[in-house]
Amino acid sequence: MSENNNNKKTRQNNPLNKQGNNKPGNGKKKGSDWVMYIVYAVIIISLGGVWLGGGSRGGSKEIGWSRLDEILRKGDQKEIVVVDKERAEIFIKEEALQGDSSYNDITRGIKDMKDAGHYIYKFVDIETFKSDLDMVAQQNFERDTAGLADSNGYVNIGRINEIRRNSHIELKARESDKTWEKVMYWFGPLLMLIFFFFIMSRITNRQMGGGGGGIFSVGKSKAKIYDGKTSTNVTFKDVAGLAGAKEEVMEVVDFLKNPKKYTALGGKIPKGVLLVGPPGTGKTLLAKAVAGEANVPFFSMSGSDFVEMFVGVGASRVRDLFEEAKKKAPCIIFIDEIDAVGRARSRGGMSNANDERENTLNQLLTEMDGFGTNNGVIVMAATNRADILDKALLRAGRFDRQIYVELPDIDERKAIFEVHMKGLKLGNDIDKDFLSKQTPGFSGADIANVCNEAALVAARKNKPLIEKQDFLDAIDRIIGGLEKRSKVITTEEKRTIAYHESGHASVSWQLRWGQPLVKVTIVPRGKALGAAWYLPEERQITTYEQMFDEITSLVAGRAAEEVVFGQISTGALNDLERATKMAFSLVAYYGMSPKVGNISYYDSTGQSEWNFTKPFSEQTNETIDNEVKRMIEEAYQRAKDIILASRDKLDQLANLLFEREVIFREDVENIYGPRAWESKNENKEEGNHNEDKNEDKNEDKNEDKNEDPKE
Ligand code: ATP
Repeated sequence: MSENNNNKKTRQNNPLNKQGNNKPGNGKKKGSDWVMYIVYAVIIISLGGVWLGGGSRGGSKEIGWSRLDEILRKGDQKEIVVVDKERAEIFIKEEALQGDSSYNDITRGIKDMKDAGHYIYKFVDIETFKSDLDMVAQQNFERDTAGLADSNGYVNIGRINEIRRNSHIELKARESDKTWEKVMYWFGPLLMLIFFFFIMSRITNRQMGGGGGGIFSVGKSKAKIYDGKTSTNVTFKDVAGLAGAKEEVMEVVDFLKNPKKYTALGGKIPKGVLLVGPPGTGKTLLAKAVAGEANVPFFSMSGSDFVEMFVGVGASRVRDLFEEAKKKAPCIIFIDEIDAVGRARSRGGMSNANDERENTLNQLLTEMDGFGTNNGVIVMAATNRADILDKALLRAGRFDRQIYVELPDIDERKAIFEVHMKGLKLGNDIDKDFLSKQTPGFSGADIANVCNEAALVAARKNKPLIEKQDFLDAIDRIIGGLEKRSKVITTEEKRTIAYHESGHASVSWQLRWGQPLVKVTIVPRGKALGAAWYLPEERQITTYEQMFDEITSLVAGRAAEEVVFGQISTGALNDLERATKMAFSLVAYYGMSPKVGNISYYDSTGQSEWNFTKPFSEQTNETIDNEVKRMIEEAYQRAKDIILASRDKLDQLANLLFEREVIFREDVENIYGPRAWESKNENKEEGNHNEDKNEDKNEDKNEDKNEDPKE
């Protein structure tokens, strides 16, 4: 149970609006990868085939001795060629091929080939093969000469000689060209090994998200480049509000386009621009817009892209990034979330764990302002935590300019709503002024999220258009989480919660600086069992009275429980946590306690992480403790007094809340009457922009967790 402020921060991605980081044509690339793999496979198989198969000529049909014997006996062989003394290629006479159907078994295509034998016979031993041929020749001779003698027993010698010549089987010999085979035999395994490493390096590289070049390219920068060919498609029109920041960033673009204008007077172009601001305020969006508008090459990468498990890779990537950029100057390098590498270097030798990050940072420092010249390269970076960045990085000459990107004010919120409502189908009752009033403390990303969530809420209800109520539901959901009406709560607990929330509402209503109420609910939402919702004023400075009134409203829930039931519950955990933090900051940071005096122990550098000692004495420590305690005690007593003085009204409010579960500002006004000062004060938000920033004042509000301690 707790008070709930609308400026609760909710950081969620908006699927409608986040720009995807996918490289264009990724799908196509996948397809071509497969083709490449198939080509590799074919190469491997054919190399393997050549290697193992010894490069023999395929196609000719292999036959055994009986078939060869048959051919030889018919005398159909035109030529027999012995190849490499290991096989015989048999060529058949043309007329036999035409007229004898027994030669139909010759492999198709081979028939017409002049340099390949129609058949192959593999013999075991060349001498045996020769004697077998001689034997067949002799038998053919005897067969053909039988019966040639005339009645007198004479034979024609000329005819005999002719038959002998014809029956002789002549052999030719040939050596096959084995150069390729020999090369493959000796170098094949080596080639296959190289090929294997090539494939492996490609796979490793893909897993590490890099471009081509395998593990050898691990030290190359992973920056995405936007130049004439690719663009972010974001322009300054897509960035709503942020007028000051936009102006400064536009100037950066101008530096690059018209450097002479600035250097003519002897000025130097700034080297670095740092965008600093809370999450979701549009720093990355601004950088994307610069990329879209600058018409110069734009290298974009995230601080974490430098960090790899290998030592030295980060520094090498920084070097590579700047080398690439210098080649394409004038250009812009954008490093998002620079705190991943730019965190302050450690002072002592406590651990070496950060060595790699520190090397990367050192390289970045050198590149940004070393001996080398970076003419025409401007480095832009974004971070939420400028306080933890190394001082050397922030000094002039490196990041000369720091641009603060703040949470949007009411007009900027309206403009952001306008940008994100462009693609939505809206009903007639949408009032952007009203919505921007309802969302103080929301960042651009939160507003983008509200628009998206409202569309989803409307879709869930099957509405054709998105209406005002859908936006309000979306805001509630983003602040408080999803309603959990199914949560089991006993009547007794429900009554306690009703009084607790009414206590908050009642006291803050009656206090001069109590925040304007929106509604009170006892429907469980997220981790909260109930909540009072306010629209906090957006102040630039806060007075003691204002903060003390807030503390009083915070402890009023518990005060109501004590007054009504005579006992207190754990439901006030979140209220007490916030009240304590506020009181502590009043005493220790803002110097608002008379006993401690005008002293602040706040450390705006945020670099005292390793500092285990407190910057004050034990005695001051005790004084601070006592002062915090006193303030909260006083606020609690004050809340109890207010509740006791208007007890009957508290009962009415609590009963109404118990019955209806949600009550609105009007219901509270009906019971307590109007707030006298409200007519003067109303709608005064955004009134005075004071340069004297009161940085810490929102911290407590932002941290309100409405936890149910039982969960
Ligand atoms: P982080 O510090 O967390 O990286 P960031 O400041 O870089 O946050 P962005 O990523 O730029 O925030 O903003 C997130 C989304 O919020 C943007 O994609 C955009 O949809 C929306 N947004 C933020 N600010 C604006 C703005 N001024 N105008 C329009 N849209 C905005």
